[in-house]
Amino acid sequence: MNIDSITNGVVIDHITAGAGMRLYELLGLGELDCSVAIIKNVQSAKMGKKDIIKIDALIPIDFDVIGYVDPGATVNIIRDEKLVEKRTIDMPELLTGVIKCKNPRCITSVEQELDHVFRLTDRAGKVYRCIYCETKAG
Ligand code: ZN
Repeated sequence: MNIDSITNGVVIDHITAGAGMRLYELLGLGELDCSVAIIKNVQSAKMGKKDIIKIDALIPIDFDVIGYVDPGATVNIIRDEKLVEKRTIDMPELLTGVIKCKNPRCITSVEQELDHVFRLTDRAGKVYRCIYCETKAG
């Protein structure tokens, strides 16, 4: 994979330096068959340092995951070597099935089939809480 050019794929850019690995894990990129590159600590005029993730296939991206981990990231969709879509991400109000509630007494620990759902309760502080027991995510 030539990391400078992608024919068809997704480039997640402007990731806060250090957040690339977390995004990689929560997006499940390790399970893909295609090439995936994480480039860490890239010099950026705007950000100082940033991480970039390049995925060499047009896979569906869960924008909620990106909005939760790093809402400042941008997602570029590349088709036939052309940038066809550039998307900025917002923090999702609800985050479903991405992270798990850590409270052992939470209903989601007992009822295994329940979705783990978190609600954004403090936008400035980036705080998400379990909708069932109010436990803070993180
Ligand atoms: Zn809970």
